[in-house]
Amino acid sequence: AFLEARCARYGARPAMRCALPNGMAGTLTFNQLAEASDAVALWLREELGLPHGAVVAVQGPNCLAFPVIFWGALKAGMVPTAINPLYTPREVSDQLKAAKARVLFVLDALAGKLDMVLEQAGPLPVVTFGIAEFFARPTRAFIHFMLRRVKRMVPPIPVEHRRFDDILARGQALRVRGGAERVRAYGEAVTGDDTVTLWFTGGTTGKSKGVVHTHRSLLASMALINHAFAEPWKTEPPRTLLVLPFYHIFGVGMMLQALELGGEIILIPNPRPLTNLKKSIERFHPTFLPGVPTLFANLANQDWFVPAAKPHLRLCLAGAAPLTPATQQRWRQVMGQPIHELYGMTECGLATATPLDGQDHTGSIGRLLPGLSARIVDAGGNEVPDGEPGELLLRGPQVMKGYLDQPAETAATLRDGWLHTGDVVVRDPGGFLRIVDRRKDMLLVSGFNVYPSEIEAVIAEHPGVLECAVIGVPDDATGEAPKAFVVARDPALTVDAVREHCKERLTNYKRPRQVEIIPELPKTPVGKVLKRELRLRAAPVSP
Ligand code: ATP
Ligand code: MG
Repeated sequence: AFLEARCARYGARPAMRCALPNGMAGTLTFNQLAEASDAVALWLREELGLPHGAVVAVQGPNCLAFPVIFWGALKAGMVPTAINPLYTPREVSDQLKAAKARVLFVLDALAGKLDMVLEQAGPLPVVTFGIAEFFARPTRAFIHFMLRRVKRMVPPIPVEHRRFDDILARGQALRVRGGAERVRAYGEAVTGDDTVTLWFTGGTTGKSKGVVHTHRSLLASMALINHAFAEPWKTEPPRTLLVLPFYHIFGVGMMLQALELGGEIILIPNPRPLTNLKKSIERFHPTFLPGVPTLFANLANQDWFVPAAKPHLRLCLAGAAPLTPATQQRWRQVMGQPIHELYGMTECGLATATPLDGQDHTGSIGRLLPGLSARIVDAGGNEVPDGEPGELLLRGPQVMKGYLDQPAETAATLRDGWLHTGDVVVRDPGGFLRIVDRRKDMLLVSGFNVYPSEIEAVIAEHPGVLECAVIGVPDDATGEAPKAFVVARDPALTVDAVREHCKERLTNYKRPRQVEIIPELPKTPVGKVLKRELRLRAAPVSP
């Protein structure tokens, strides 16, 4: 119903554009999104025969087929789950099995690995779509489909690997025969407590966990997004440059926001190399750029970016990982505007944001958004005073129902109605929060709590350092000791220079006992440092 209402309101306006690096570009209007997703819903229910609540998996980069499949599944009363396109067959089949997916939509370029995936995940109907699946086509495919019908030449549906445009045409054929009414009925059978999506956590601290959100919690999150970032779009809807992947909750949240406001989303299927964004920016003049901190750090260093983007961008929004003051400063310098920051997690969507009030909020994730309650507690569960670090607990209608099929994890994370975020924060008297670190990353050095982020911030101030990460390594004398992995900006950077830099700025027990210069840091696809890989790397090799 959400999409129906928006599509009726915004009709022929473009909802999404997708520009490929080779210059091809496709557009999906609100009307086309409504029709094509109806067709997918009808195909899922009436040709594939899947029931209400069935899980629909989709694996691919950001491209026009994704939102069509996502909304098609929702309209059918089914549950979409998105899979990272960079996953190995093993990881794909793990997620398919965990989510109990009943059908897989996959980018045709990834279909080469399907045999391996299906071998491990078991047989599953598969639909392949193209990255250049542009939606002038369904109509054409539909006409061909009808012509073939007339000539009684419809080929039998192959058991596996159906083509997306073929299922669209079949769905369209159902749609013209009263299908739109039936789609509405499928939607009406959905209740607020039904599962809406199964998005998986970032996999930063361990294996990704499936997060069960309900229609109610997703709508509550959407209301927050619109509340927090409405201001710039009062006069004109956003044109969102969506580099954030759809398989991450941040990407989905930004899609929902743009649809709500009648905005336009410019999809970037492959943001690497960053010059892939150049044509889209020059052509479509995005006004809104949400992203992860590494995106902003990298874009600020591209010669072409500032002149192309600066005249149009009205809001830049970072989240999902810590934004360093250095990136913020550089962005202000070259772009003449700040990066706003939000904090959230798959388990509860958006939770805090910096206000769009023109003040400098560098280093803060902003205030708690309305409708959420927070407690900041010590290890014993007692609330700590302002200015003291403690774990952030959250409560509100946005919070997940639980992890999928992981009762122990769910019980550990959702206690007495409070979501234990695992993030250590400090609140100032004005209610602004600062992230200190993840609780799991904290070190205990000679009995002192040491937060790697503090050491990382100090090292990052060194002009020869591009980025760094600090982990704990076992130490005979102190129990644990900090070890720093440093990526050099200046090739002449030495370990001694880093040590000297730390010695002047950090008390003894916080200084890294070991420093190693490496070419790059291992990261998750959304740009978070994989400290568990650094820990493996730091572990002494057994003889
Ligand atoms: P996993 O839970 O599988 O280990 P993950 O926690 O990275 O992975 P997500 O749900 O994608 O999975 O990310 C949420 C986490 O991202 C938060 O708990 C927090 O640690 C971090 N985070 C989000 N926003 C910010 C921010 N603005 N600054 C610092 N960290 C952030
Ligand atoms: Mg997490």
